[in-house]
Amino acid sequence: MASLMLCPMVIPYGRQAVDEQDIAAVVEILRGDWLTQGPTVREFEDAFAAACDAPYAVSFSSGTAALHAAAFAAGVGPQDELLTSALTFSASANCGAYVGATPTFADIDPGTWNVSVETVAAATTDATRVVVPVHFAGLPPPVREIRERAGDRVLIIEDAAHALGARTSEEKVGACKWSDMAMFSLHPVKAIATGEGGMVTTRRPELRDRLMIFRNHGFDLHPPAAPGGWYREQVELGFNYRLSDIHSALGRSQLRKLDRFIAGRNEVAARYRDLLRDVPEIGLPPAAPDRSLHAYHLFVITLRDGAEARLRLYDGLRKRGILAQVHYLPVYLHPYYNRTFGYQPGLCPQAEDYYSRCLSLPCFPTLTRQQQDQVVEAVREIVTS
Ligand SMILES: *Cc1c(COP(=O)(O)O)cnc(C)c1O
Repeated sequence: MASLMLCPMVIPYGRQAVDEQDIAAVVEILRGDWLTQGPTVREFEDAFAAACDAPYAVSFSSGTAALHAAAFAAGVGPQDELLTSALTFSASANCGAYVGATPTFADIDPGTWNVSVETVAAATTDATRVVVPVHFAGLPPPVREIRERAGDRVLIIEDAAHALGARTSEEKVGACKWSDMAMFSLHPVKAIATGEGGMVTTRRPELRDRLMIFRNHGFDLHPPAAPGGWYREQVELGFNYRLSDIHSALGRSQLRKLDRFIAGRNEVAARYRDLLRDVPEIGLPPAAPDRSLHAYHLFVITLRDGAEARLRLYDGLRKRGILAQVHYLPVYLHPYYNRTFGYQPGLCPQAEDYYSRCLSLPCFPTLTRQQQDQVVEAVREIVTS
């Protein structure tokens, strides 16, 4: 049924895996009393926190709303800088601009495509109050080392939108042992889907409270004793960023399959590595170090011959119904960032070089072996012709 939405000949770069159990879980909510603000939201949050080894998880209507709330909870504002990776989706940086801070950018390490301790240190100024390390493609960045270098001078918000289900040698992503908060997206291309949705995990109860206040119009969690049970006080300027019970039921059902989904993504990645390792025209993505686990939100190859070869491959794959994608234009090269903050090309040379030659191949748990072969054959044919 679901494949009716896309022509069956077409292979997208990512897609959700929704089964009958997921559908039944949502239908059960539709027949019940609570479509939103009911018990399923909390159940999903508790299951999510447990899956990440974190004490608290707060859900949001999107990953972007979750990042906005995290920037609010961090207490940053005008005069402050929020430092993130040049290589990420705009939302990682936009959250700083939402609260009036200036987004700034650290270059990537070409060996990991993540920020490194050195690139973060080089881009840190006296005004840097928050660092947002991104788990690009699902590979964890060196959060512990960034914390050890920066101490408590900065708050760390991990953008783990790509990395639900990933692990370092020391923690599950989202456990927040060395960060203040970790943010996740529940968009259909990500590890688990709620439709739209996001989550923030934290170990700090005061941050959890601020996140919860922000997603519900800024209303206090604990109304003062007053005559009349209706009395509530708005103590901050918040939004309606709540996740519904409908979304939460889907998320809770999907979460039970997280390990299987990540294993499936790792199988696809291992197979691509195997079948593409002898193609000199392309480079393979950084692998996870020992005793850690890559979430493979993306499987990105690079074209030795640069932008022209990449365009030829992108177009050639599209002609064959394979919808490869480019992740990402370095954020500061977007016109908004140039116009608002004056950023110019050349700021982060490694991210720009990566951008000129990268291409994300289809990678998701329900990608069949036959489809993987189809992708590999097409890549070989196009890059060697
Ligand atoms: C998907 C994504 C987001 C935003 O999440 P949404 O749920 O789409 O709002 C933020 N950061 C990164 C790196 C992402 O890939």
